[in-house]
Amino acid sequence: MEESNPLIIAIDGPAASGKSTVARGVAQRLGLVFVSSGAMYRAFTWWVLENGVDPSDRSAVLDLLNRTEFVCGKDGREGTIDIGGKRMTDAELSATAVNGSVSRIASIPEVRERLVAEQRRYGADSGVVMEGRDIGSVVFPDTPNKFYIDAAPEVRAARRRAQGIIDSVSERDRMDSSRSTSPLLIPEGAVLVDSSHLTAEEVVSRVIDMIVQE
Ligand code: C5P
Repeated sequence: MEESNPLIIAIDGPAASGKSTVARGVAQRLGLVFVSSGAMYRAFTWWVLENGVDPSDRSAVLDLLNRTEFVCGKDGREGTIDIGGKRMTDAELSATAVNGSVSRIASIPEVRERLVAEQRRYGADSGVVMEGRDIGSVVFPDTPNKFYIDAAPEVRAARRRAQGIIDSVSERDRMDSSRSTSPLLIPEGAVLVDSSHLTAEEVVSRVIDMIVQE
């Protein structure tokens, strides 16, 4: 019998659309690794700020990038990121200062190139559920399992407020959608799911029902 390819599930969508909760739920139900690619952009942004580098000083950011070691691994079934020898925590990754600068850092092509290479490594040997902005369009364009999770802007803003996080969701979406390298878009062939009036469990079930094993 032929071995099937590792299952790669790409979940994209705007900020606070619920894609992270959904991706984690899908990974749990299928026994796959869950990876937030946004956490990688956040980790490097945190490192830029920690090093006192101005996020708008591109050459200083690139200089730091060239001197930085990322270790992207797994703890159980979740992706982990060590940067500069330090394991990043959720609190650091969702800090207000990081929210305010991450889209600028993520618009730099060299930063994306480096992190996309790390992201692809996760898909190379085992299955993965990865969420982000360019997972179906750039990171894993060949997977048949692409989903785009959206929700009404007021629902997304309310979700962030309920988490007690200060985050200018609409400004990040504007920057992420308008950048020239790997902008946020609905990847070709992606199934669009509007999560505005669905529970996370309902979205997880919809996604799982549509998964194709090649
Ligand atoms: O998903 P999350 O909101 O944590 O992503 C934080 C930021 O990282 C996004 O606003 C975007 O600028 C960047 N990002 C990206 N490409 C991805 C994932 C995240 O540019 N695949």
